[in-house]
Amino acid sequence: MSDSPLIHLGSLMRSSEDAHAEGQLDRLNYEQGGQPQTLTFPEPAPYEISVNPLSGNEMYLQGSFEPTVMMDCARCLRDVEVPLSLTLGTLMRYEPSADAPYLEEAETGEEVLVFGDPTLDLSGYLAEMTLMAAPLSVLHDPECKGLCQVCGHDLNDGPCEHMAAVPVEEIDDDLGVPHGSGHAKQNPFAGLRDLNLPEE
Ligand SMILES: [Zn+2]
Ligand SMILES: [Zn+2]
Repeated sequence: MSDSPLIHLGSLMRSSEDAHAEGQLDRLNYEQGGQPQTLTFPEPAPYEISVNPLSGNEMYLQGSFEPTVMMDCARCLRDVEVPLSLTLGTLMRYEPSADAPYLEEAETGEEVLVFGDPTLDLSGYLAEMTLMAAPLSVLHDPECKGLCQVCGHDLNDGPCEHMAAVPVEEIDDDLGVPHGSGHAKQNPFAGLRDLNLPEE
């Protein structure tokens, strides 16, 4: 079950047959910036993938992947299981010189999965799709009271002596800013983040 999600594209490339792969994963081992990474799922994550030939060295991947990811509650930091349901649809291109599969942004803005080995390991692809689909932050409960900012006591378990209540809004400001947000400030659309969009 923990084997890498492989899809065999040799006969697709030789005789234009569709390729298919399915299974369940309890983790994904992949590399990011040369560093080995592991994404662990608290329960088996089913995937089903088909690849159809297009023209030349291009093909199209379609399928589904349903991982549950573990995230920290943004206020009290306890574990939250977040089930995701991904619908996959990605253009692929075979380039024999590609060492490891990678995602490239085409001029259309569409992502293209480039690979060089006909036995394609989809670990990195599925990990990236999962991370892109995961919400930036979650609450274990919409009413989560968070942690005391003085002693770290979990206020969901009852008040502490510092209950000079820190307004929840302030807690959100502290925790809601993603790491590396200096980058976001240069984004001309960064101001849009302040729009009062309804929560999903
Ligand atoms: Zn919480
Ligand atoms: Zn306290």
